[in-house]
Amino acid sequence: MKTAQGTTIIRNGQLVDGTGAAPIPNAALILRDGKITYAGPELTAPAVPADALQIDARGGTILPGLVEAHYHATYFNVEELQDLDIKYPVEYITLLAAANAKLTLECGYTAARSGGCLHNVDVWLKMAIEEDLFPGPRMAASGREICGAGGLMDWNPDFRKIGMEGLVFLINGPDEGRRAVRKLVKDGVEWVKTYPTGDAAAPDVNDHHTLCMTFEEMHGVVAEAHNHKMKVTGHCRATQGIINALRAGYDTIEHGTFMNQEALDLLLERNTPVVPALHFELASIRRGPEFGLPQAVIDGHQETLDGGCESARLILKAGGRLGMGGDYGFGWNPHGDYAKELTFFVKYVGFSTLDTIKCATKTGAEILGREKEIGTLEAGKLADVLVVDGDVVKDISLLENRKCFIAVIQGGIIKAGQLAGHLLSDSVAFSKTPEEVVG
Ligand SMILES: [Zn+2]
Repeated sequence: MKTAQGTTIIRNGQLVDGTGAAPIPNAALILRDGKITYAGPELTAPAVPADALQIDARGGTILPGLVEAHYHATYFNVEELQDLDIKYPVEYITLLAAANAKLTLECGYTAARSGGCLHNVDVWLKMAIEEDLFPGPRMAASGREICGAGGLMDWNPDFRKIGMEGLVFLINGPDEGRRAVRKLVKDGVEWVKTYPTGDAAAPDVNDHHTLCMTFEEMHGVVAEAHNHKMKVTGHCRATQGIINALRAGYDTIEHGTFMNQEALDLLLERNTPVVPALHFELASIRRGPEFGLPQAVIDGHQETLDGGCESARLILKAGGRLGMGGDYGFGWNPHGDYAKELTFFVKYVGFSTLDTIKCATKTGAEILGREKEIGTLEAGKLADVLVVDGDVVKDISLLENRKCFIAVIQGGIIKAGQLAGHLLSDSVAFSKTPEEVVG
């Protein structure tokens, strides 16, 4: 990905650096050749060349570019599980993913860690973004997912003879887990996404308290993935699934819904980040009826929402790490709504704004394994910056409205926002009727 040449100074705003530290009022951020050279009070800022590009933050907020930590570029208005595997051919999925990536960047998300993708689109999407073929977040790519046969992702009855080859490897036993990982090695993915547990979406045989992989299968996947320097994550709702994942050596936990003390102790001991992805649950409850979700599914989402909020509060209070991201790409939780996750954590779960921003920037970068390059506004890091017209610390929901963005900057280059007006598109993926997050 290209970086800017020359110097830029962003001034006249408060600086939220992403570390959780108090905002610096009247701050300046200086960028040179795509990297941050100064972040601090304007009063003590070094002089910049006369031809430096000046960005006026208009008394608003300067913060790191956001990181989507559970991103599905290839999901598009999914309304039922079957939409994932048979709705579109790979050609169209690829184009949709490119449109989603552009929208994601316009929404202030300069990086994203995939939580699974169809076919092997992520790897090539990442390459196209890195080659500047089109705009999008810096990506960590996942590929096809891994689930035990008969588990959450194995929904097509055998008589339909649908192989699910673009979506998931359905495995029996640790050897098949290893075989699936070996295919992913050749695909070039960085993250292996697995399904240790079920979900409220499948209340009959694979609900959120059901296990969908054995410990041995999970351990086989991790051993093979780590051998090839890949990381492993998994959809973990049931308590035992979380414990199994931590014991097996998972690098992150998705959802971590029903934590108990044993799970929390293990989590803290291993310092494993969790990405709760919780706004999805609220959206499923609020908008589920409109999409025809059965009551049993909605009831399950309510239990998941309650358990997930409680677990997220426990983890934060105990000093654990949380990433912000959230299964955007469903009909009731569409691409473009990513920052609703942040408003939700402040207004519904009770996190402070600064903690929430830290989760969405610094911890997100750690999850990507790129904390030395991105995630905070500190000298030496890549200039991935979001400049917002307004006080984000007072009202985090400003991040939901990309019309408030003065600039979305990646590697020092203004890629979106008012200062790149021509790039602000009304993507088809954007929700036309943004729902109030909290009533
Ligand atoms: Zn997901």
